[in-house]
This record gives sequence, C-alpha cells and structure tokens, in this order.
Amino acid sequence: MTVTTRFAPSPTGTLHVGNLRTALHNWLFARRHGGTFLLRIDDTDKERSQESFVEAIRADLAWMGLQPDAEERQSARFDHYEARFAELAAAGRVYPAYETAQELDLKRKIRLGRGLPPVYDRAALALSDEDRARLEGEGRTPHWRFRLDHDAPIIWDDLVRGPQRFDPATMSDPVIRRADGSWLYLLPSVIDDIDMAVTHVVRGEDHVSNTASQLQMFQALGSTPPAFAHEALLTGSEGKLSKRLGSLGIAHFRELGIEPQAIASLLGRLGTSDPVEPFADLSPLIAGFDFARFGRAPARFDEAELAQLNARIVHQLPFAAVAGRVPEGVDAAAWSAIRPNLETVGQAADWWRVVQGPVDAPAPSDDDRAFLTRAAEHAESLDWSTDPWRALTGALKEETGRKGKALFLPLRLALTGREHGPDMGALLPLIGKERAVERLQA
Ligand code: GLU
Repeated sequence: MTVTTRFAPSPTGTLHVGNLRTALHNWLFARRHGGTFLLRIDDTDKERSQESFVEAIRADLAWMGLQPDAEERQSARFDHYEARFAELAAAGRVYPAYETAQELDLKRKIRLGRGLPPVYDRAALALSDEDRARLEGEGRTPHWRFRLDHDAPIIWDDLVRGPQRFDPATMSDPVIRRADGSWLYLLPSVIDDIDMAVTHVVRGEDHVSNTASQLQMFQALGSTPPAFAHEALLTGSEGKLSKRLGSLGIAHFRELGIEPQAIASLLGRLGTSDPVEPFADLSPLIAGFDFARFGRAPARFDEAELAQLNARIVHQLPFAAVAGRVPEGVDAAAWSAIRPNLETVGQAADWWRVVQGPVDAPAPSDDDRAFLTRAAEHAESLDWSTDPWRALTGALKEETGRKGKALFLPLRLALTGREHGPDMGALLPLIGKERAVERLQA
C-alpha cells in the first residue's frame, strides 16, 4: 500500500497552530512511509473562501518546509460530486428535506423538553410524492440529507483513539447539501478521499462524529474507507482551548524569530509519549513518527516552551542555514562565536553591533582603570594571530595576580559593554586589535 495523506484546510482564514499541527502530522506520516502528501483546498463555500487565503496557506506550508506533492481543489470537482450524489439519490441514500432552520430548531427543543436526544426525526423520509410537490408548490426548495443505515453499529479502530463505536440510530442523518445546491464538507470530502486514493485521514478529534457518518458514505459509494487518526486537540498554556491559540499563526511566529524547525519539533512531539527535542534537521522526527505514541489527553501548547526550543535549534544551525539572514560581515567564524548566545537568529545583529562598536561601557573603578590601561598596552604588543584572548589574560594574570571574575569581567565590560555574552576567545578576534585597544584605553 502506498500511503497517501491529505491536509484539507478551508481557505476562510490563515492557518493557526492547530492546523499547522495537523498539516505537520500528515506530512510526517507520509514522509515516514515514503508516501504522498496532498494539499486539498476545501473551497466549496464560495462566500467564505478567499484566494488570498489559499496563497497564504501555500506560503505558510512552504515556509514550514511541508511541501505538498500535489494540490487539489474542491471547487474544481463539482462534476464529480454531482455524479456521485446522483448515484446515492438513485440508491435512496440521500433524500430531500424541507424544514426551515426555525422548524428544525423547534423540533430539537421539543425533543429535549421530552428528555430525548435532539436527533432529526426523519419526517422528510415519510413524505409522499404529493407532499413534496405541495411543499415545492409553496416555494420551498429542499436541502439534502444522507440516510444513515441503522442496522449495525459503526465501528473503526482509530490510530490514536483506539476502537470507536457509534450507534447510528442516535445520530441525525447529516445534511450534505444546502437548498441552494451548495455542498457541505462531508460528502465531497469522502468522494475526494476515494478519488485521490487517500489511505490515512489525519485530523482533529472534533471530526470524530463526522467520521462515523463518513464511514457509511464510503460504504454507500462502494469503497473501502481509509484509516483514521483523530488527534486530541491543543489547549493553550492556560489549559483551555483559547481564542489566542486560534489566532496564532506563522506570521506571529516569524515576527518573534521562531524557526520552522522549532515549530515542527514542538508540534511533532506534543501530546506524544516521546520527549520534545530540538531537531534542526527533521529526519529523526520523521523516522520516529508513529500514531501509537500519541495520547488521548489534550496537548498543551506553550509559547515559552517554543521559545526555548527555538534557542536550542538556533544553537545548532550551521552558517549556511542563516547566511542571508545575518548582517553583512558575519561569516562562519563570527556565526559560531555568536550563535551560543542567541535566542533568535535576528539577535545576531545585536552582537554584531557589539563587535563593530562603538560600545557603551560603564565607567570602571580606579583600580580597574589602571588594570585596563595595562591591558591596552598588552593588547597593543601581543601576537594577534593565535588566540589573543588567551595571550592577553595570561599576561595580565601573571603581571597583576588577578584571576577569575576580577581578571575577566573588567575586560569583558570594557570590550563589549556587557556583563555576559559570547565566549571572549571567539569574540576578541572578531573585534580585532585596533578596536580592542581603543576600547581598553577608553
Ligand atoms: N476542511 C475540513 C476542515 O478544515 C477538513 C477536515 C478533514 O480533514 O477531513 O475541518
């Protein structure tokens, strides 16, 4: 079996963290099994779908490195839906219903009032040809429902949730088509999954009850359904499914200087029994991806964790991965000197300013001033070709007897204007003799 997965966003907005996670898992699973990863644009809703969102979705996936192997669009497939719908109508598996939204609402309330589950009563199934003619004569246009088969329970073995069982008699026949002829998502998705030979449907657990209906649609269309993996939802760090989480997307992360690998490292492991680790290269994440590792409890997405992971990824990035994103003049040596001190690649610019100066150093004590004057003299005369920091501190240690903090800190402060920072052994050669002497004299 060749694995085929699909990520199926509706282009009614930009992708948020939850969508990105679903996209990532579809991609990881396809890559893990040498399969195909499809991007399917669910744009049957003409009113709410926007081309700009389609472009944004593509751009976000590209930035994340989740390149789809092919792209499909539901709006280009209406003929297929029409043909399969006609088959279902001929087989009596879809039926027209005429209730208005208000009528349905009233029915729901009455059932609830009687302590019954608010399931559609199938009144439309009992209509005769004359009834329908009369209703249409009154100017009503039907919407369409899929007739669930009540004979047997709906069961499947979910890759994340384990064995699932639904009693179709407790479910409403789902509306699949609106009165204006437009499609709801359920049936087109099944037709696409059949036509595109999707083997694994990976999506959020908010779709579990849709799956129960859709499994019968696969059967009604004469197809073996794919496997399903329904993932526990993400919650915000406050523990709830927050509004904030629904609005966090790539634009926000890019602004914060988050690398795509940090997002993938976190979202690839969150909610699994494997530890979250910083993967600058995603191969190990792909190799270890397995739905059996996923838990059923909601996974907590924490932006602070993402920021920490990002720093650990930045510390691994080779110069080639950041060239073009760092200030001109930063070369491989400068990058490896600065890198351990960064939380984001963007911060390289701050350290590069420190290298280039001018630096704003605090005024030293009298004692330190004399010490720094000696340091300037040594810096002037020492050999800069190999490890000047070692030579400078060695000479000063011997001459003044200073060691530890008393030796290093005044030098660091004078040379960088800061108490902490990159290893001076790596930084000093970048600052260079001229600027170093000047700063020590100042
Ligand atoms: N367009 C649907 C959604 O975004 C797709 C669900 C699915 O993966 O089947 O929820």
